[in-house]
Amino acid sequence: MSHDPYRLPDHVIPSHYDLRLEPDLSTRTFTGHVVITLAIAAPTSEIVLNAVDLEVSDALLSGERATPRAGAVLLEEDLQRCRITFSSSIPAGEWKLHLTFRGTLNDKLRGFYHSTYKDAEGNSQHVAATQFEATDARRAFPCWDEPHFKAVFAITLAIDPTLTAISNCRIVNDRQDGGKRIVRFAESMKMSTYLVAFIVGRLEPTAPIMAGSTPVRLWSVPGKQPLTAFGHEIAVFSLNFLADYYGIPYPGDKLDLIAIPDFASGAMENLGAITFRETALLLDQDTATHAEKGRVADVVAHENAHMWFGDLVTMAWWNGLWLNEAFATFMEMLAVDAWKPEWKRWTAFGVSRAAAFSVDGLLSTRPIEYPVRAPKEAEAMFDVLTYEKGASVLRMLEQHIGPTVFRDGVRRYLKTHAYGNAETTDLWVALGQAANQDVPALMNEWIFSPGHPLLSLTVDHAGTLTIAQRRFTYTPTDPGTPDGPATQLWQIPLQLRVTTGQGTTTRSLLVSGRDHRVVLPPDWTSVLANADGHGFYRVRYDSTLLAKLQQVGLQELAPVERFNLLNDTWASTIAGMVPPAEYLTLTEHFRIEQDPHVWAVLLGSFSTINHLLSEDDRPLLAALVRDRVGPAFQSLGWTARAGESDLVKELRGDIIRALGTLGRDQVVQAEAATAYDAWREQRRQIDPNIVPALVSILAFTGDAARYDAFLARFHKASTPQEERRYLFSLAAFRVPELLERTLAKTLTEEIRTQDAPFLVSTLLHNVYIREKAWAFVKANWDRMDRLFPKSGLRRMCGGVVGLSTPELERDVKAFFRERKIDLGGKTLEQYLEQLHIAVTFRERDRGHIREALAQAVR
Ligand SMILES: [Zn+2]
Repeated sequence: MSHDPYRLPDHVIPSHYDLRLEPDLSTRTFTGHVVITLAIAAPTSEIVLNAVDLEVSDALLSGERATPRAGAVLLEEDLQRCRITFSSSIPAGEWKLHLTFRGTLNDKLRGFYHSTYKDAEGNSQHVAATQFEATDARRAFPCWDEPHFKAVFAITLAIDPTLTAISNCRIVNDRQDGGKRIVRFAESMKMSTYLVAFIVGRLEPTAPIMAGSTPVRLWSVPGKQPLTAFGHEIAVFSLNFLADYYGIPYPGDKLDLIAIPDFASGAMENLGAITFRETALLLDQDTATHAEKGRVADVVAHENAHMWFGDLVTMAWWNGLWLNEAFATFMEMLAVDAWKPEWKRWTAFGVSRAAAFSVDGLLSTRPIEYPVRAPKEAEAMFDVLTYEKGASVLRMLEQHIGPTVFRDGVRRYLKTHAYGNAETTDLWVALGQAANQDVPALMNEWIFSPGHPLLSLTVDHAGTLTIAQRRFTYTPTDPGTPDGPATQLWQIPLQLRVTTGQGTTTRSLLVSGRDHRVVLPPDWTSVLANADGHGFYRVRYDSTLLAKLQQVGLQELAPVERFNLLNDTWASTIAGMVPPAEYLTLTEHFRIEQDPHVWAVLLGSFSTINHLLSEDDRPLLAALVRDRVGPAFQSLGWTARAGESDLVKELRGDIIRALGTLGRDQVVQAEAATAYDAWREQRRQIDPNIVPALVSILAFTGDAARYDAFLARFHKASTPQEERRYLFSLAAFRVPELLERTLAKTLTEEIRTQDAPFLVSTLLHNVYIREKAWAFVKANWDRMDRLFPKSGLRRMCGGVVGLSTPELERDVKAFFRERKIDLGGKTLEQYLEQLHIAVTFRERDRGHIREALAQAVR
């Protein structure tokens, strides 16, 4: 027996669910009946399973050669359990549990929920959809809602005959009965409850395209079928690519990808019935930007990767969630990189890796694999440490042992654990066998300990290079504390590139001690650590080494290497290890930069500086931005050229936006307004990648008339991307009265709850409204808590990191403390530490930054 109240006892094991559901979209309710086949291991008079927000009216247990017996049902709402007791002991053996229940189609975007959209005539239409991960299948039907209780699901939906039903498997029977359409689906493979899905509504499919023997279709609400071609192409490509990589055929009998009008996260990997928010699946190829296309490609490939990694082989418990998500994220890069090599997907991954670094540099970070008990803790695991740090360390390992060996280890792991569950160590064992190396020893610190190393490189006059490791933290730690962060050591696969007069050589080292020495050849000219940029560690060079790199020329480095150099230096600046003037001097070398990802670091750092300055000092920053960005803009101009890559087009948009907003370039602002109006009136063609920049600039400089125009565009948008662009433009104005209108709208039906918390977070980051936005959050907290999906509320709170003044920080801390708000896991603690680091940086360096800015642009 398990003593953990959040874990079910394991002497009763389900193997098969025969589930029938009858949703009524007009009354927003459903009724259901389930017959669960059970193996009872030892005599018992009690069966415990999960259920919450359900009424379970009847419980009956039947078995061969036994008289059916009724059970008494007790719902334990706080533990989300249903306890069924019988008057006498049930002998061990196979039994069938029959349960009748009813529930509500809720509006919280979890469990079995309700979504709405307006049809072409402007009438409200309804969709019922499911979202079960992590622990919400129990809101749709009583079940053993833990990932290791895998079972076969046979699902039947009784629906209004005018509607369509989709579930994990093919339809095996579809008939009319008593005014209802009864749709029966094929039995699923053995899988976890969180992967079950059913969707009911007026939905339209594409014609199927075959990926091997699997028909692949995209579904949308009526009218959006023209937006499916792009997603369809990557869906089919990635499914073929993945089946080939894994060496195992796709485990389902069909694959449907379904865009749902209201959806809390990006997408959900239900076997054979993947659900998406519309922006992550549908787009218009003629008007979408490179970034918007990249997002759809990423999400589709990611979810497809889960069909094997997650669905076929599943983590045994939620502490192992990282294995699912990090791996799907890793495979998403691999698949998209194979599909569009010109997108340089692994360089773009630098941006995601940087997001993981910024949380993992906190004292309140957590290990990738981390204990989970309550459902709220499981929800908190969906963060950058699970996805992006996890994927980063997998990439580091893959590059260390070699891509083919890595793939063979993955194949071995999947074959061994197919239809079952696995632990992290199972993957290491499989990879270790394939690589013939001690992979567990190599990976343990990366997975089971928090943080990551900083490698400090110094060289002496004799040409001896010393590589010293210690944990990187934004806040100084005491090196004298036994077992403190400063004593942690990692086994670090290090790629060291040494350039001499004769050329370059790259050495693969495994740095495991505190210091590692390398004797450089006498004619060395430069040294680069983390060559190719796959390592999950930061690097600092002493002044000699940095000067040598600059002498050789930073443009000689690969984009991801320049990215890392800038990003690591900026992080060290925030941490107080590098003076701001030094960082700003380094940025001089990037005026001719042509890679949008490297620019993302530069522009991100300028935006952070903008947060620290008072309005009086912002013209200094604007001058710096014009100085750094100007040359790139001169070479790119306003107009896309024939044969230009998608990345250059994306960069042009980023550069124009930076000049027109942070750079306050009035010529660019005026031209943006002219270009936008000419484009709207169809007098001018504009590359789609520029449009978001124009919208941002016009909001930044905009008045009430512009606000109303953008609000109208939001309501009349023709694609999910356009809708999102104009919605978020409403948080990018500078006029406080206009921003207050946006704030007020976040609590109304005008904005979907899938978007509203993210809009609030954007407003908390906007320096022209952040105080009022924070006051608004405090005043409306209870309503937001009721209204918004839990995951959205948690993300919204991340916006407090933008409140970087000592007064606001005090107020934020007091509010969360007094209201006893818990966002699950370490989430809140991390937000508060990030805020504290921002305030510390501001208080310590605001004066230095002002001086450095004045110097830099004299
Ligand atoms: Zn995922």
